[in-house]
Amino acid sequence: MGLRQKTLFRIKNVELKKIDHPKKVSSYFGENTFSLETMQKHISKTTFEAFKAWMSEGKTINIKQADEIAAAMKDWAISKGATYYTHWFQPMTGLTAEKHDSFISMAGPGKVIEKFSGNKLIQGEPDASSFPSGGIRATFEARGYTAWDPSSPAFIIESALGKTLCIPTIFISYHGEALDKKLPLLRSDEALNKAATGLLKIFGRKDAQKVFSTCGPEQEYFLIDRNYYNLRQDLLLTGRTLVGAASPKGQQLEDQYFGTIKERVVNFMFEVAEEAYKLGIPVMTRHNEVAPHQYEFAPIFEESNLAADHNQLLMELMKKVALRHNLVCLLHEKPFAGINGSGKHLNWSLADNNGNNLLNPGETPEDNLQFLAVLAAVLRAVYLHGDLLRASVALAGNEHRLGANEAPPAIISVFLGEQLTSILDMIEKGAKSKVSKRDIIDLGIARLPKFNKDSTDRNRTSPFAFTGAKFEFRAVGSSQNIATAIAMINTIIAESLDYVADKVNKAKGSDFSTKVMQVIAQIVKETKDIRFEGNNYAEEWIKEAKKRGLPNVASTIDALKALTEKKNINLFERYKVFSKEELIARHHIWVHMYNLTLEIEANTLNEMVNASIVPAGYEYEKLLAGNLKKIVELLKEAKLKLDPAVISDQKEHLSDVVSKIYYVRRNTKELVKLLEKARGLDNDLRANLYFKELKPLMEHIRRHVDALECVVPDELWELPKYREMLFIK
Ligand code: ADP
Ligand code: MG
Repeated sequence: MGLRQKTLFRIKNVELKKIDHPKKVSSYFGENTFSLETMQKHISKTTFEAFKAWMSEGKTINIKQADEIAAAMKDWAISKGATYYTHWFQPMTGLTAEKHDSFISMAGPGKVIEKFSGNKLIQGEPDASSFPSGGIRATFEARGYTAWDPSSPAFIIESALGKTLCIPTIFISYHGEALDKKLPLLRSDEALNKAATGLLKIFGRKDAQKVFSTCGPEQEYFLIDRNYYNLRQDLLLTGRTLVGAASPKGQQLEDQYFGTIKERVVNFMFEVAEEAYKLGIPVMTRHNEVAPHQYEFAPIFEESNLAADHNQLLMELMKKVALRHNLVCLLHEKPFAGINGSGKHLNWSLADNNGNNLLNPGETPEDNLQFLAVLAAVLRAVYLHGDLLRASVALAGNEHRLGANEAPPAIISVFLGEQLTSILDMIEKGAKSKVSKRDIIDLGIARLPKFNKDSTDRNRTSPFAFTGAKFEFRAVGSSQNIATAIAMINTIIAESLDYVADKVNKAKGSDFSTKVMQVIAQIVKETKDIRFEGNNYAEEWIKEAKKRGLPNVASTIDALKALTEKKNINLFERYKVFSKEELIARHHIWVHMYNLTLEIEANTLNEMVNASIVPAGYEYEKLLAGNLKKIVELLKEAKLKLDPAVISDQKEHLSDVVSKIYYVRRNTKELVKLLEKARGLDNDLRANLYFKELKPLMEHIRRHVDALECVVPDELWELPKYREMLFIK
């Protein structure tokens, strides 16, 4: 029996202690966070007021107040058992980073005390010179600095033997350039706030002092047994299977989607949720997804910055908890070929400080006018800057999804649904100068939630879909930090809100409503090409989109070019979200990461072919050749009378296997040559070469390997098979 088959017998569920009465979530939600309420209990009233003023009006606290908060945070953390703290940040690589320091401080020879100052809370200086900066930090100023983000509460991460206080921070260079994903998001929320409150003022909404974006990312993922994971170098090193024949049963029966969740998996989900609740992450929904062993978690939406932090934390938790259940959580966008990949549907909307959702049509004609104005701004933003949305989801893993028949295509378009479409059509024709409550009711959108539950009016193929009081950006990759996509969306919408406000101010007309309707009508007319209600996966759409002049950018490298285009540099500089240097740096880093990803994949494939796949093939070759030789000898010796077709069949079988191995080897040698050739090329040329030649070559090798897998005896094949990884319970 081969190693792979032996592993089959090692698979068993972990023993779990049964909990008869799980605690009520509300009794422990957020208990591991230094929330506003917790802070209030531990600091003086004046400092708390100062902190709140900082959050709402941007008036920074002084160092004494920072000291007080730091001491309170430390005491609280120590009372919960924490002995270390870390500034937690999100470098441009998309992971989260931490450097831990103990709370101890020398208080005399051989004596320590626990200490934590305001300075240490506010600023950290991890010697993080190995994080990519895309050239922003010169080597003589290699340090990056972390700075406390007080809008996201500090939290405690538990492990079996200790606890660590994590302080969310931004990561910046000496000159204040963003070296992370969080700072641009915070800046974009500022821009959005300014633009949106500006527009609301024109609508007479003086009560709206602050507008921010809200997000609810639906997180898809796969779970597979850890024993199998450990036997797959490709999953281990690249997060996806580089080879693997399709399982005869895949997702064609669609019997997994929303099916009963297996006990082993549901236990994992319970534990993830419990850990998440302790950290104040409001995970809400859990279910089976379309592909076998594919699942989803969705949270209740929150302010974007928090939602982004929470999604990062949730991903970490999912990975950690899975291991405890002898499972591995795969967050890669395309871990298995031939079945669905994983994405992250980013639900996005705008809310004001009074809890009003700006994408919620209201009860009065005035509310609906405002709703339509914001909607028009969204249409215009996507129409003008679809390239930035595409760039925000450009990475090697997602390249396998976008454009394939499962995820939204690489063509960015907006879906609005029948009712909204017909309203916009009427506005465009000038048939409507006002949208009364009556109209909205007639058109069935007065109660949007209800209308949206109607699954007939859902378009699951659209990359940017209005799904009732929010837009859903569906092209985000499952492993991605959502911060970048949010920053892009916030910025392009801020610009369009400003545009709408400006146009309304300048419009001529008898009354306010007429002026706004004019502006909406003009935008609706101009941005028509971005709207598409049909099936985004269909061939016809690709042709139609081309006719409309909508870009269809398949490659990561082409998508990333948007970051350094003049129109976009101007936009981001105007809204102070990214400077030109910051954009150039991101472009550089993300192209480089694409290259590194492909190189790791290619080298892993090369090794798997040489050290595992071809040897298994040779074993079988030997078996077949020996067999054939024996039969021919026997025939001679024993003078058996046999149909000559038997011998030629055996020969055919042998040569089939021999040639399959040959094709695998020949193409793998090509692969090595190609990597060699790429070595001398610069970042961009290399990425092009990888997209155009390396990827197809890897696919080619894979096809031959998969064919070989289907003929080589089961017990000689060491790599766990799709049917095992995806179906074994
Ligand atoms: P649907 O099934 O229509 O996609 P759900 O109500 O299940 O809608 O929500 C899906 C996700 O959208 C959830 O994570 C939810 O928190 C999020 N969401 C709902 N409303 C908003 C909003 N106003 N802003 C941002 N995200 C939202
Ligand atoms: Mg959804």
